[in-house]
Amino acid sequence: MSSIAFENVSKSYREKIALENITLTFQPNKTTAVIGPSGSGKSTLLQLINGLIRPDNGQVSVFDKKINYDNLPELRKRMGYAVQGTGLFPHLTVKKNITLLAVLENWQDDRIAKRAQELVDLVNLPKDYFTKYPHELSGGEQQRVGLCRAMMLNPKIFLLDEAFGALDPMTRSEIHAEFIKLQKLEARTIILVTHDLREAFKLADQVVILNEAKIEQIGTRKEILETPASEFVKKFVHMQLEDDVS
Ligand code: ADP
Repeated sequence: MSSIAFENVSKSYREKIALENITLTFQPNKTTAVIGPSGSGKSTLLQLINGLIRPDNGQVSVFDKKINYDNLPELRKRMGYAVQGTGLFPHLTVKKNITLLAVLENWQDDRIAKRAQELVDLVNLPKDYFTKYPHELSGGEQQRVGLCRAMMLNPKIFLLDEAFGALDPMTRSEIHAEFIKLQKLEARTIILVTHDLREAFKLADQVVILNEAKIEQIGTRKEILETPASEFVKKFVHMQLEDDVS
């Protein structure tokens, strides 16, 4: 069984091909990083998973079932989605931001309180932050709140689109540690779009390298470093890691 499967998926915007004939599976409870230059199709790939975009050809399946585009709310309930910035609601407290989806799902109050507490403990946010507003928090703290919100319903699939992009290196490295801890405690299928190969290698079990709408290579850190599948991969890796090489 796969969590998500792409079968010969293509998507164009007018004459611009964003993804061309992509076949790819995402294994349950593993983290996959999707990386590539700007415009290579990363966001399109992510939005094909949550049904925001429909393929022109081919099909996308989630938990072995073709996506039912007539019932996207059902699909999205099973997916957490965190984007760059965090997308927190500025006029809602931290607690309300985190618990919003559960309230909409009519969860009982005590269940909501228990899960919210569990999540802030997991990401190391003090409980007195519940009553604060997003603007009173640092970027890293806001990011943690964003992660809690995306995990509230304990989705089996977690989509992260450049979610750590705007953070300074220290905070980023702290959030990475939280991420790894979370994945150990509550494993889920994670698709992480990034343009940082170091981040991809640190967090992901497999890395998908996209270039001009196509997959250049799918592999582990070791496979990509030791047996790059193309000249593009070689150059891309060298460019991204050149600080280490020089
Ligand atoms: P990435 O996330 O890797 O930067 P995208 O998936 O956003 O790449 O985009 C892939 C290609 O499709 C790019 O050339 C982009 O300009 C084009 N594209 C993306 N969204 C649209 C859109 N809504 N309309 C027209 N072209 C688009």
